[in-house]
Amino acid sequence: MDWDTFEHWSLEFARWSRRYRESLRDRPVRPPLHPGATLAQLPATPPEQGEDMATIFADFEKIILPGMTHWQHPRFFAYFPANAAPASVLAEQLANAMAAQCMLWQTSPAATELETRMMEWLGQAVGLPNMSGVIQDSASSATLAAVLVMRERALDFQGNRTGLAGAPRLRIYCSDGVHSSIDRALWVSGIGTDNLVRVPATGPLAGMDPPALAQAIARDRAAGHTPAGVILSVGGTAIGATDPIAACIEVAKQADLYTHIDAAWAGSAMICPEFRHYWTGAEGADSLVFNPHKWLGAQFDCAAHFVADPDSLRRTLAINPDFLQTPGAEGSVDYSEWSIPLGRRFRALKLWFLLRVEGVEVLRTMIRTHVTWAKGLHDRLAALPQITIQTAPMLSLFTFRHNEGDAATADLLNRINADGRIYLTQTTATGHTVIRFQAGSFEMTQADADTAYDVIAELSA
Ligand SMILES: *Cc1c(COP(=O)(O)O)cnc(C)c1O
Repeated sequence: MDWDTFEHWSLEFARWSRRYRESLRDRPVRPPLHPGATLAQLPATPPEQGEDMATIFADFEKIILPGMTHWQHPRFFAYFPANAAPASVLAEQLANAMAAQCMLWQTSPAATELETRMMEWLGQAVGLPNMSGVIQDSASSATLAAVLVMRERALDFQGNRTGLAGAPRLRIYCSDGVHSSIDRALWVSGIGTDNLVRVPATGPLAGMDPPALAQAIARDRAAGHTPAGVILSVGGTAIGATDPIAACIEVAKQADLYTHIDAAWAGSAMICPEFRHYWTGAEGADSLVFNPHKWLGAQFDCAAHFVADPDSLRRTLAINPDFLQTPGAEGSVDYSEWSIPLGRRFRALKLWFLLRVEGVEVLRTMIRTHVTWAKGLHDRLAALPQITIQTAPMLSLFTFRHNEGDAATADLLNRINADGRIYLTQTTATGHTVIRFQAGSFEMTQADADTAYDVIAELSA
């Protein structure tokens, strides 16, 4: 492709992007498709001769667009949001054009130093001003990195060399129903989910019981096992379950265990001081992750990983082959030593643009408004005779079900999603199939919350 063609289509795509975002309300949130519908329209073999961009773009509109779930749709109430605010999309255009590898200070000095500053800004914004930070690709990677630190700390930083054969049995503690990324971190670290101890909760939303955590650790020590770390949740994916952070960290510190907090979704809300009671004590954690790529509006991928002591992370993950030595750059930070992949995208730029274009106060207002709208919808649904609220709002997330039982709830969800005006997902909570609702889209308005009420009321009647 020559650069004139590149420029032409870049401008076209900018115009298309605006039309796309502005027309989302007129589209179903999720495409009404069956598996294989897109595949059937794609040639089985790659082209031998290059094709015209106009033809490719026409195919994009004809084949791909009708098969997309619109995550930026203002009535996307499923899963958690993956907001890509316009300012962050613009930053990604520049990052894409430069396509820099940001693994070492030397391979992208400004990207490294901007990342340092952005993590400082974010730390202040969420009330964790004393932690160091790195931007990981996902919360899953940050959690895996934290579990690897737990492993290495418990093995005197010899595990990377010796492997786990012959090592004491390491034990990690979490509450019930944590995100699947925690199970996977246990798989990948070699510790194994047989050694993930699920500490009982005191209630569905209340998280783990600190005395039960202390007992589980003591029991394992008595059995000759080696407790290594505690993983805590703030705003679990299913219903927003949240562990009592201060009390659990206290227990972990008494036992000299490394602590990691998974606040992937809820962490963004901590830019609002009034929500920080959900993670009181978080500043005492060894490690914490939240995803600005969820609620805050920094285009995926952008996972903010904070650590109290970067040295234990570096001792676990840094590797220094000759070709990565950077003479003359002493005193600089090489963020690839803080993460599992070597190559790193320039992720700090979109945070810089986002925080400058919006300002933290606008983002606070957005999050507060989402919480208010979710509470309002919760109250209106609670008044419907056919609906039972299953779990109360945690920030902007709550769950409900149809009174006539699990089958009726599953059927209601299918009809809601086939309707297309809103998109919701299900989970299991306190033994029931329930429907989750979360408000979080950047472009959502009160009218979208009203539409959610209308659709649920109409289709459940
Ligand atoms: C979304 C989410 C994750 C996974 O985040 P990724 O960045 O996709 O890895 C982990 N934990 C919780 C609580 C989440 O909501």
